[in-house]
Amino acid sequence: MVYLLQFMVNVTLFLDFSFVGLKKLQQPDGSFMATLHGTEADVRFIYCVCAIAHILDLWHCIDIDRTVQYLLRCRTYEGGFGLRPGCETQGGATYCAVAALTMMKRLHTAMTPYERETLLAWCLRREQDGYEGRTDKDPDTCYCFWIGASIAMLTDDFSDDVDSPSENLLHLTEQRRARSFILDECQNPRYGGFAKFPDSLPDILHSYYSLCWLAMAGDLKRPLNVVLGISQEKWRQYYHTRHPLVANGEKREATSQEDRR
Ligand SMILES: [Zn+2]
Repeated sequence: MVYLLQFMVNVTLFLDFSFVGLKKLQQPDGSFMATLHGTEADVRFIYCVCAIAHILDLWHCIDIDRTVQYLLRCRTYEGGFGLRPGCETQGGATYCAVAALTMMKRLHTAMTPYERETLLAWCLRREQDGYEGRTDKDPDTCYCFWIGASIAMLTDDFSDDVDSPSENLLHLTEQRRARSFILDECQNPRYGGFAKFPDSLPDILHSYYSLCWLAMAGDLKRPLNVVLGISQEKWRQYYHTRHPLVANGEKREATSQEDRR
């Protein structure tokens, strides 16, 4: 993800990958800034922080309770999540919040069953011909992933996403219309790739997330890790060979380039 990469670069360059860096970025309300120099703070950066903690096993750097409380304040009357408290429900923000809660292992405990059902219902209602990112907006291919992945996380157990289900993750959805939207309407017959809308030019972001939806729907035979938006096979390989950079809250030096991968 663009924001994840941007955030990781910021952390690496400005904080020299200090393990207290993530801790310093957390604000009193539970949100995270992208840098120490004062920037936006919203659910996108909570997703980035959780992804970093998930990948590098840095959970001791995060006040999880405070993070969860901030996320819950981003819930809206529609049932989904906005970027910040008081913002409109939006598909990307909802994905960031649901994925962050999944990585923190709080998706099934932070909200009541009714709240989770309302959230799932909001996601399911976004399926039109393709998926819309907000109520009454035009469908957009990237939201097939943001919303579809949120549905997958809400309906399957991803508490241990190393061995998450790898077949069709979208069994609650129609799929036929989204598949046709991606393959027949937004795929560019001349240049290849996928566009955001029908009759527009393809771009890398929408091509990537179109392929992610096809992977979630079981069309590509290449399972997707929906929490990180990467190949499940690559994540599993990494997870089983990684060496934690920290142990017992203290920095442990990586001894080789292999350790840093
Ligand atoms: Zn889009």
